[in-house]
Amino acid sequence: VATPWDRLDPAALAAGQEAALRDQLRHVIGPFSPYWRRRLRELAVDPASIRRVSDLLAIPAVGERDVCPTGDPAEAAGLVVQATENGFAEHSPGPVVRRALLWRLRSSDGYRRVVDAAVRPTSFVFGGLAVRFPVASTRSDIDLMAVAGARLWQVLGLSDADVLASAVPVRASTEHRCLELAALATGTPALFPGDDPHLLAETCRLATVRALAVPTARAADTLAGLADRRVPLSGLRTLLLVGAPSPAERRAARLGLAAAGAPDGVAVLAVHAPSAARLLWGECRDGGDALHSYPDLEVLQLVDPDTGEDLPEPGAPGPAELVLTQLGFRGSALVRWRTGDLVDGPLALGPCPACGRTVPRIPTRALHGGGLVAHVDSGSPGGGLDTDLAVDLRAVCAALAGRADLRDWRVAVGTRQRDGRRQLMVHVAVDGDPSASALGVASDLRAAAGLLPGQLVVTTAEDFRPPEGRPLTRRVVVG
Ligand SMILES: [Zn+2]
Repeated sequence: VATPWDRLDPAALAAGQEAALRDQLRHVIGPFSPYWRRRLRELAVDPASIRRVSDLLAIPAVGERDVCPTGDPAEAAGLVVQATENGFAEHSPGPVVRRALLWRLRSSDGYRRVVDAAVRPTSFVFGGLAVRFPVASTRSDIDLMAVAGARLWQVLGLSDADVLASAVPVRASTEHRCLELAALATGTPALFPGDDPHLLAETCRLATVRALAVPTARAADTLAGLADRRVPLSGLRTLLLVGAPSPAERRAARLGLAAAGAPDGVAVLAVHAPSAARLLWGECRDGGDALHSYPDLEVLQLVDPDTGEDLPEPGAPGPAELVLTQLGFRGSALVRWRTGDLVDGPLALGPCPACGRTVPRIPTRALHGGGLVAHVDSGSPGGGLDTDLAVDLRAVCAALAGRADLRDWRVAVGTRQRDGRRQLMVHVAVDGDPSASALGVASDLRAAAGLLPGQLVVTTAEDFRPPEGRPLTRRVVVG
């Protein structure tokens, strides 16, 4: 009997992952992604030279800002793998080509279907944090998402008896699509009323819901809404928090469950997908408190969030940005993709202390989903309503890191006491003339991030007294 996907020993896991990686670079990304074809040529990296995970370090990590430099979502089309019929025959594994050829003998339609399933993007979700862009999937990608969905159910300890209701907004998002496909793949009855509180309450009255999925940020409100409507939750066994929760959000969800009359012992489990990824990770029911990944479908790496460069050592302290390379996927294939997710500390490798699965894991409390793109309130020029503005802190950091006159700096997003508005706060320590540096920093930030910081504090190196005696540490502070 073959060892299942989640119990492989380190050598078998690495062998499978690296075989998939070679295949992905050589037969999918290298020949067929316009963006990567150009980029690898510029870097003088031969896709066939990427044989092991460590070889990926030859490719600098890229994010949405690199792929869409002008902020135009249409540029993300360059990521999409665009194979032709000839390319398909040349680069697909033998059994797939033979099956396609066999079909061609019988009918040209059948052949077309096999080729299209592998190469033609037919389904889209929207991804991105500061730039929203369509993420394309082929039929074969949808199959992979369904396979991963069945695995997610195993990790979460759900079965086809766990009737699911989802309060995740019904739209073309990774989270909604993955839950739908997981339910389909496992034969689990699932209802998707979305974020309409009335519809959710009606759904929970109609069916004996055993698993409830709610967006993490709104979990407490959603549960309070069910409590107000006196919706019976006596059958509930699992609450899925969609989006990595902070410890406080998890506590609030537990309180909400108790207030809504859910039975004791409901498992509160997080699921999370980085932006533009098409896989949902889950926590194991055994209490691993970490999101379990799929090593044969993805490679996880960490980079310095300020520079995008690889960390000197994988377990280096301090927050790092999660970088994702997807394996086996076509459509908008991600290679060394800067997710914008911030992780405090190393990934967990080796067997999960709770469930024994040997897959790499991300400690949930250490994960700040989308932490590198912050939302701030930006007053409209006429002094009217605030508009929500997404600020890519990576662009802010890159602008600061590029200035020779700054000795140290720190970027934070916080709430202004006076009016409760969320704003960008930048603190810099300069070597030379503070007013000249202040002007330069402001203009660089406007060019890089499209706004002026709500607060810009400039200190000279001489009178520089770091708060709480600590240096600014050239870091982003996620609040
Ligand atoms: Zn586990």
